[in-house]
Amino acid sequence: MLSVIIPAYNEDKTIRTAAETISGILSRESVDYEIVFVDDGSSDGTWKEIVSAAADIDGIRGLHFSRNFGKEAAMFAGLSDVKGDCAVVIDCDLQHPPEKIVEMYRLWEQGYQVVEGIKEDRGTESAAHRFAANSFYKLISGATGMDMSSSSDFKLLDRKVVDTLNSMPEKNMFFRALSFWVGFERAEVKYDVQERKAGQSKWSTKALIKYALNNIGSFSTAPIKLITVLGLIMMIVSVIFGAISLVQKFMGQAADGFTTVNILLLFSSSIIMVSLGIIGFYVSRIYEEIKGRPRYIISDRTGDKNG
Ligand code: UDP
Ligand code: MG
Repeated sequence: MLSVIIPAYNEDKTIRTAAETISGILSRESVDYEIVFVDDGSSDGTWKEIVSAAADIDGIRGLHFSRNFGKEAAMFAGLSDVKGDCAVVIDCDLQHPPEKIVEMYRLWEQGYQVVEGIKEDRGTESAAHRFAANSFYKLISGATGMDMSSSSDFKLLDRKVVDTLNSMPEKNMFFRALSFWVGFERAEVKYDVQERKAGQSKWSTKALIKYALNNIGSFSTAPIKLITVLGLIMMIVSVIFGAISLVQKFMGQAADGFTTVNILLLFSSSIIMVSLGIIGFYVSRIYEEIKGRPRYIISDRTGDKNG
């Protein structure tokens, strides 16, 4: 059986369409499926829509978060709840073309264990958004050594991969990178990003920055290593300036050089501050993990898990 996981946050306008389109395509192709909507603590009628879709259409069920935990949490809740032999994660707004699920499924039948959706055309994103997304992917690809520039959350995972992800104890998971990191037999399916069917994108600039920082933090220790590099640079700079000062002293020109002192002082103290900040960032992440709180809280469910 194929499980389809759909994270949904304030998507009351798109639930019905997504449910009907995806279940329609899969039944036409006679793929045995279940569709699991994860309502990420929406404040609109999303949960009502999910309940009614689950009542009307076979093979649909829903999980309801007690509050908004974010898309990553919603995807992982889906992964730990589904029963299929493979699972697909897809957006609720149908920006990921649902016909591609079938293509992914066929590749899985041929023995591939991870089928990545690769964005060919990013659709109608603003130039600023594109620039931000590109920089983020450059950063994270460089920091993690994995090329993720055109990857997305649209993926099919084999049961083995799903179980592997479910068994990971870390709380702050970055789905895109983790599904890359685990390895396994991989294949790719290219797709064009579609227009959003209804409603608006849920990502504010602030949310995106937080998302980027979080994921860099959970996948890379490069920033904290950078501190050592900065320290080394400072050491070299101080050796040079130290030598210059000594020479000046012996030549009797020691009174000069306040500018140098000022620059050095400002430079080194700013580096120390930044370094402390970076260390603090990682310490806070350790603190978050060590608390061991659940990634999400499910407050309600609909549809029969064993049906
Ligand atoms: N989403 C979610 N929780 C959030 C934000 C978004 O579950 O906190 C879901 C949303 O309902 C959609 C998917 O993640 O199914 C992608 O969101 P969106 O379309 O807003 O992002 P974009 O396509 O603009 O990147
Ligand atoms: Mg979208």
